[in-house]
Amino acid sequence: MSKAIFRFYEELNDFLPKHRRKTDFQVNFKGRRSIKDMIEALGVPHPEIDLILVNGKSVDFACILQDGDRVSVYPVFESLNIENVSRLRKIPLRRTKFIADINLADIVKYMRALGFDVCFASSLSARKIVEVSKRENRIILTKSRKLLKFKEVTHAIFIRPETTEQQIKRIIDFLDIKDNIKPFSRCLRCNSLVKSVSKETMADRIPLKTKEFCDQYTYCKSCDKIYWNGTHFINMNKTIADILLD
Ligand SMILES: [Zn+2]
Repeated sequence: MSKAIFRFYEELNDFLPKHRRKTDFQVNFKGRRSIKDMIEALGVPHPEIDLILVNGKSVDFACILQDGDRVSVYPVFESLNIENVSRLRKIPLRRTKFIADINLADIVKYMRALGFDVCFASSLSARKIVEVSKRENRIILTKSRKLLKFKEVTHAIFIRPETTEQQIKRIIDFLDIKDNIKPFSRCLRCNSLVKSVSKETMADRIPLKTKEFCDQYTYCKSCDKIYWNGTHFINMNKTIADILLD
């Protein structure tokens, strides 16, 4: 009989019985077993997994378990340093979502312009931000050290005093989410996804002069707002291009 030590991180623990959560535990096995088999036999569905380390090295699902192996299994990374390891998937399975504190209106505007889902309401108290973050699996973006000290906070990024562009680059680098950027796919005002619309559909709502120079429009159904190149986007485009080119 061979044995291996397993440890599951973050939300993956929800699939395990209580005594195996957030701790190393030993698993005995016979013969040739792939990592995928073993993990599923332990009750954790493989689509939830983003990275597996065996003895500190990243492996794929087909890896055959050896006697004495130490296996660490991670969900999509949000708060861990993953330098020098490769994920199982290029783009994380779960969409990374955020909630920003009251002092981050600029970050919210640009993050939404990049297509990220960022919940923001200037009336939200610190307690409420933590609550929404837990309920909707949102990463908290905050300048407040006090907020980070709430014991319920599990996923948060402390925003340092820098330019908005530097702050956003830092978030994107840290979470490795550059591949998730979809510029101008979301409403800057209400965070809903916008849709492309034809000039004709919105004809009566677009100023005559705008119609002459712009053919591309998007529309937010939730808050009934029309966007076109030149209004909100011209000033943002340079910052967004800088972030994309970095
Ligand atoms: Zn909207």
